[in-house]
Amino acid sequence: MRPWTLALRCVAPLIGSDTSTRGQRHVADSCYERSMNGVTEHAERWVKALSQLTLRNDLHLRTLLPLRDIVPSWKLLSQKERYCPLCYSDDESNKRPKYNRLLWSLDCVMACPVHNVLLVEVGSSGMGGGRPFFLPGVSRLVGSSLAGQMAPPATYEQSCMARMAAHLLDDVHHHPDAFVEGNCSPAPFLKFATKELYA
Ligand SMILES: [Zn+2]
Repeated sequence: MRPWTLALRCVAPLIGSDTSTRGQRHVADSCYERSMNGVTEHAERWVKALSQLTLRNDLHLRTLLPLRDIVPSWKLLSQKERYCPLCYSDDESNKRPKYNRLLWSLDCVMACPVHNVLLVEVGSSGMGGGRPFFLPGVSRLVGSSLAGQMAPPATYEQSCMARMAAHLLDDVHHHPDAFVEGNCSPAPFLKFATKELYA
């Protein structure tokens, strides 16, 4: 089943008050939006619905919601959808479905810290212009795998920056309690970061 169909049949009925076909389709369409990864109510609503459906309680860790209290939301998410072709290639070699990394949705991240190449922008004529249904790692224009696309090498600084952002996201997974609402605010975080970085 395509993600959109799953979203329409299972998730949309749990989200929003507009139960008309148009309203439900609108909710399903948003399953491809980058704001799904973000810190807004949109991400929160999807996490809640998916948690209800899967009985998991850690799905918010797959979004930037845990960072809500420590980083500004302005320019947090990239305006463009981007990917690392070599990560998709690794997915294919390991015989797992290609998936989009949360790290790629951060605006400040320009490179893949695993492969040290620049992220590539998704080629598409927009939400309305590409293929109506799409999967991660599949070209919306021609339907072929994006794993073979060329990615220019990143500079040392771009890779370092991406690695730091990746470490922050790793911290969310390894120490989720530290990011729980109320436990987390910029002052202690910055104090901790300054101590760690500059002793
Ligand atoms: Zn990569």
